[in-house]
This record gives sequence, C-alpha cells and structure tokens, in this order.
Amino acid sequence: MNDANALNFSGGPGALPASVLRQLQQAIQALPETGLSVLGMSHRSPWFRAVLDEAEENLRLLLQVPADMRLLFLQGGGSLQFSMLPMNFLRGRSGPADYIVSGYWSAKAPIEAAKEGNVRIVWDGRPEGCHRLPAPDELRLSPDAAYLHYASNETVEGLQFQNIPRQAGVPLFCDMSSDLLSAPVDLSHYDAIYAHAQKNLGPAGVTLVILRDGLMQTATDDLPSLLDYRRHAEARSLYNTPPVFAIYALLLVTRWLKDEIGGLPAMAAINDAKARLLYGCLDATPGLYRGWAEPSARSKMNAAFTLPSPALEAAFLAEAKAAGFHGLEGHRSLGGVRVSLYNAVSVQAVRQLTDWMAGFARRHG
Ligand SMILES: *Cc1c(COP(=O)(O)O)cnc(C)c1O
Repeated sequence: MNDANALNFSGGPGALPASVLRQLQQAIQALPETGLSVLGMSHRSPWFRAVLDEAEENLRLLLQVPADMRLLFLQGGGSLQFSMLPMNFLRGRSGPADYIVSGYWSAKAPIEAAKEGNVRIVWDGRPEGCHRLPAPDELRLSPDAAYLHYASNETVEGLQFQNIPRQAGVPLFCDMSSDLLSAPVDLSHYDAIYAHAQKNLGPAGVTLVILRDGLMQTATDDLPSLLDYRRHAEARSLYNTPPVFAIYALLLVTRWLKDEIGGLPAMAAINDAKARLLYGCLDATPGLYRGWAEPSARSKMNAAFTLPSPALEAAFLAEAKAAGFHGLEGHRSLGGVRVSLYNAVSVQAVRQLTDWMAGFARRHG
C-alpha cells in the first residue's frame, strides 16, 4: 500500500482506511465470495442483496437508527438531496420551509428549495463571514414550517453544530454529509438526514438517506419515480442499477468501524484526539495559524485556517506537499488551508502533520 494515502487530509473525496483499500483492490480482480470482479457483479444477484442487507444492518447498529426510519442508498450526491427533499416535502404545501444558512453548503440548499415553494432563512451567518454558528435563541423558527433544514458540519469553513436546532412539531432535516459516522448521533430528533459517501462513508457515487416512514408517506404525488423516496423504499434501493462498487466499499467501511475501531463511541474518541492535536497546534501559534472558526464552533472534521500573507500560505502548501502531506489546500471558495480529519485519518498522521506545522512555525514565525 502506497504510504501517501496515510497522509491524505483531503476535504473530499476523503481518505479511506488502508484495510478497505486493500480489500477493494482484491475485489476489483475477484471477490472472495464469488470469484468475479465486483465491477461485473449483477445488482440482482444474491451476493449484492446480502451486501445491501449487511450494510443496512451495520448502519442501523452503528447509528442506533430508530425502527421507524428507512435507509435508502441513492445517487446524485448531497446536492440532489437539496432538491429532492423540497420536491417531496415542500412542493404544493402552504407552510414555509425553514433553512439555517451557516456556510457554503447550507447556503446551497435553500436555493433549490425556493424552486419548490416558500422558503425562510431563519439565520444567516454570511453577513458576519461564517465564523460561528447560531445560539438556539437566535433562530426565528416558524411554528407552521413544512420542515427545518440545516447542515451539521460546514465542510468548507470548518464549523460544526454542538447542539441540535429544533422547533417542536416541525420535522427536522439535516445534511450530515461530512460528519455522519464520525461520532454517535441521536437520530430520534430527526425526520430526514442524508450524507453522500465521499467524506466519511466510502467513495463518491452513493448517498445515504435515512428518513421517517410516516414522513415519507406524505411525499408529493406524481414525481418522477427516481425522485420519489417511496419508489426507492419499495424497491429496497434497487429501483434501478445502484452504484454496486460504491455500496460495497461503504459496507467495508461499516465493517471496519464495527470490527477494527469498535463502534462510534470509539471512533469519536479517536476523532477528539485528532482535533485536540490540530487545534492545539493552531492555538500555539495564533499569529501564524489563524483559525477560521470561532472556538465554540470548531469542527472535529475540518479545520480551516489562513496565514498572514498569500506568500506564507503558498510556502506552507508547497513545503507541506514536499514533506509528503496531501490535500491541504482550502476550498476554492475560501482559499487558505484546510485540514480534514475524516475517520480514516489516523492520530499518528495528525501528529506527523502537527509536528511538521510546529517546525514550519519555528522557521517562519
Ligand atoms: C461536499 C458536501 C456536499 C456536496 O455533495 P455532492 O455529493 O458533491 O453533491 C453537500 N453538503 C455538504 C455538507 C458537503 O460537505
């Protein structure tokens, strides 16, 4: 296995565990169970039915999914969910849909929802530059909303909600694309959550949607079948050809979490240790490493920061690359540096990076 993967801090698609990459390499040649390449396996085969069933079972166990929530493996990424949720649950409704806009990704969702109905932005971080998240009493929520939508982790700015915003009686929807499976989450508060795979769950190509059965039954009629959650649920994610390879990879990631890591509490402890190392390093040299997020909103998955000048940022990125660290460029909308600490990034890798960053600070500080 190429060592470079161990030092991949990319914002997405993110790093995958070495043991998963090894199994995928073998699966492309021949799956242990069938002797055939995973890329040539029928999605109607008993083998793939077992893959879907085990992936669902593992996710239910890891996330403690409430019994009345359905799991769907869809395509179209996080972005299609920005449209699909309002198509199903806002179109034709009178109440507004409430949206919290706290950064780059959560700002995209209401643009799509506004094509389907009445949208209210109940808090907007953009005038302040998206360095923090709202306190519960800052939200002006509508009691009659069709739903409330937010993103639990802003991948670009590196902001992560520490509490769950909610309004009694209003269904809660959440984009968890960049932090699902990084720590336990109490899904009992939610009615619909979604996460594409390529940040923390597997490769690009599959998007996990978990939604309440009762809510799903209220979906808009006459939608194209592929955009109607009910068709996917009836077909148990086999309405049309699903991304077999991506779902198989996701299954391997769930096995890794269960069997090698020991579940989400153990994963969360590892992620806490990584975040402590990284933010400790930023806080040790605040004149050089200027964290984007206010401390109260710091994400354990993505840390964005700037350096005092474009020249220093360029030197940081070039020297980091020469030292073997990958994927540290900030998102194109923000610039600067971003260190992503997805599940597959080890404590050891973060220690190597922070040791190197401390050295950079000594040379340039
Ligand atoms: C990356 C990201 C998206 C975009 O997902 P696509 O699969 O590229 O459509 C949406 N939401 C969040 C929080 C993200 O991090």
